[in-house]
Amino acid sequence: MRILLVEDSARLRELLRELVTEAGYHLDDVTSLDEAHAALRAASHDAMILDLGLPDGDGLALVRELRRNGSALPVLVLTARGSVEDRVAGLNAGADDYLTKPFHNDELLARLRALLRRPAAVQAEILTSGAFALDSVQRIVTCSGVPLTLTPREHELFELLFRQWGQVVVFERIENTLSEFGHGLEKNTIEVLVSRLRKKLAQTRGDIDLITVRGIGYMLKQTP
Ligand code: CA
Repeated sequence: MRILLVEDSARLRELLRELVTEAGYHLDDVTSLDEAHAALRAASHDAMILDLGLPDGDGLALVRELRRNGSALPVLVLTARGSVEDRVAGLNAGADDYLTKPFHNDELLARLRALLRRPAAVQAEILTSGAFALDSVQRIVTCSGVPLTLTPREHELFELLFRQWGQVVVFERIENTLSEFGHGLEKNTIEVLVSRLRKKLAQTRGDIDLITVRGIGYMLKQTP
């Protein structure tokens, strides 16, 4: 894990370097927005700890810029500005978390770890086929613009099949994907799920068939 620290106070940089590297992360530290830009271009980071009052400008400008460019880099803002308004401004700019100086070392590490655990926000991705569209971030499926009401598991199954449109998805793959909900699957759970999804798809006006390929798996294809 590679962390970028942007902080102009030498004392704090030193303290954070010790803290973050002892926690087992690699740390790049820079002192200004300019250097931060260069560091972000030079390497890929897993999170950024960002001071707001920097010699060449406001750290929030960097956060806004990152978000405008579609970057999902987790940002922990570290600042002496502790008012509610400041925190709200920070979060509105696109920071993920906010810690007021002076901070406790343990709290900083806990918050950093939490940020690193968070899956990076994914860019909106819209998949389409025929009358169907799937927004993989908002988790919405529409047919001719009309949203389908799917349970999370039905959505997961639909997305898996939809991504492999016209190809068979084997049982094992379906089982593996759906098991990520935390538990193994009952033998007939997939069958029940498929039949429910099939019914919902049949109620749409899209030309879509959820086919059972006996002994192998399932696939979505255009109604002949
Ligand atoms: Ca500063």
